[in-house]
Amino acid sequence: MHVIKRCPHCKRIYEQGPEQRGIGTPLRSCEGCGSTFVDTHENEWELLGPLGKLSFLFISIWTAFLFGIAFPALCYAIDKDAAEDHFLGLYACGVAAFALILWVMNTRDIRESRQRMRDPDYRARLRRAGLLRE
Ligand SMILES: [Zn+2]
Repeated sequence: MHVIKRCPHCKRIYEQGPEQRGIGTPLRSCEGCGSTFVDTHENEWELLGPLGKLSFLFISIWTAFLFGIAFPALCYAIDKDAAEDHFLGLYACGVAAFALILWVMNTRDIRESRQRMRDPDYRARLRRAGLLRE
């Protein structure tokens, strides 16, 4: 789904494109009016509950299975007979390749999230935004 994200204060568009949820800072600063607000499409790894982490993992695995079909589809375009004969093997390779890509991207995002969360000033900003209770 295509989303258009706007600053809740001045309504300036700050991002648009396919809807994505991921690990990242939920705090946004508007380049138009300078206000800080929360983007609910992103969250810090530490702020996700057990269910949120499980759901993130499930979506990643599901995405690998969904996009893994691209590999046998590509092989089908090159050699139809060979792709049909080896469909399951090719699909398994496609799923494994996407799972690896997602694993690399997710571990990088989680590492960066943990880095941000070590900053006491950042934690104070999250607390002021009502996202962190401690
Ligand atoms: Zn604004």
